[in-house]
Amino acid sequence: MDTPKKTSPITVVYGNTPDRMTELLLSTVSLASRIPQGASIGIKPNLVVARPASQGATTTPEIVEGIIRHLQDHGHNRVSVLESVWVGDSTKRAYRKCGYENISRKYNVPLIDLKDDDSVTIQAENRSYDICAAMQGIDFLINVPVLKGHCQTVMTGALKNLKGCIPDSEKRRYHSLGLHRPIADLNRIIRQDWIIMDALCGDLSFEEGGDPSTMHRIISAEDPVLLDSYCCTLLGFTPRQVPYIQKAADLGVGKLYDGDEVLELNNPDDSYHIPRMHRSFEHLVDQRDACSACYGALVRALMETDDQLFDQLQQLSRKLDAPAAAVGQAFDSGAWPFSRTLGIGSCTSSADMFVKGCPPTAEMIKKGIRDFLGQQ
Ligand code: SF4
Repeated sequence: MDTPKKTSPITVVYGNTPDRMTELLLSTVSLASRIPQGASIGIKPNLVVARPASQGATTTPEIVEGIIRHLQDHGHNRVSVLESVWVGDSTKRAYRKCGYENISRKYNVPLIDLKDDDSVTIQAENRSYDICAAMQGIDFLINVPVLKGHCQTVMTGALKNLKGCIPDSEKRRYHSLGLHRPIADLNRIIRQDWIIMDALCGDLSFEEGGDPSTMHRIISAEDPVLLDSYCCTLLGFTPRQVPYIQKAADLGVGKLYDGDEVLELNNPDDSYHIPRMHRSFEHLVDQRDACSACYGALVRALMETDDQLFDQLQQLSRKLDAPAAAVGQAFDSGAWPFSRTLGIGSCTSSADMFVKGCPPTAEMIKKGIRDFLGQQ
């Protein structure tokens, strides 16, 4: 086995051929030689929903295929892919829809559905967290997130992708704990050993995808804090606007990007466009400890609701000086604090009108909005 070459902290390759780009990137950072022979290697993509990578939410399968080929070519045969999609969707469906079943068959690599796994409780200082038990059997974890925008945390990359390694009950609890601190703690409990960031066509405004932005690059690093904070600069944010990155840095998970060396393997192409949401609706929604799937479905419903209904919602909210809709686990107990506000999700069942589901879909919410306005 070769000794790994010393590389820059961040390495970037540009283009639109993910298989060749991955091969060049991995041989440059000599990933295989960083891993002890016989190690159990886990690959963690981002398959948050069952949608193909072209829609901007999930990891490009050719990148994962390239990683597996690179590992097997260098004698690493204990490789598995691990994922648990977000609350309310099916990991097995995501593996199938996103093209991972073919890769599994071709390379004889198991696809682990972490939703089927047991959980173990781990202590992080004075807090305890549950993680999927399979994560404890991984010797070397390769994280393959997608660089995306996020409706609750501004952006999502390497640090947040580990949320797919915890049970669904814990995903919900993270939101009730404020999301940022648990994500930072999780990155002390589960160590990611290397990151290959898919920044080919992530949706830069929304983690569920639907409006992909072509950034045509794959980025590699060992330090998730460094990588995520570097990616903030690409999206025009500061790490301060993404509190879990700063918290992870404070906890010693890694260091913040500070003009560190970036090795570019070919001609940079910075001709990407960062979209912004075409509607602002923060004043319309009271969000308290909402799960991403629930809040994301509401965001999508509000973006897709026709202009006339959206105007009606705004007028109602202004007239009542109250949110038009409320969502989140904090509404799960106690009396509904509003007089004419639509509840979103089963947690809001004490509202006069609410959309059932845990989480409801965007279509259910759009229908709920129509029915709600019809009764005003
Ligand atoms: S209803 Fe929504 S916010 Fe409440 S637990 Fe379910 S997904 Fe989470």
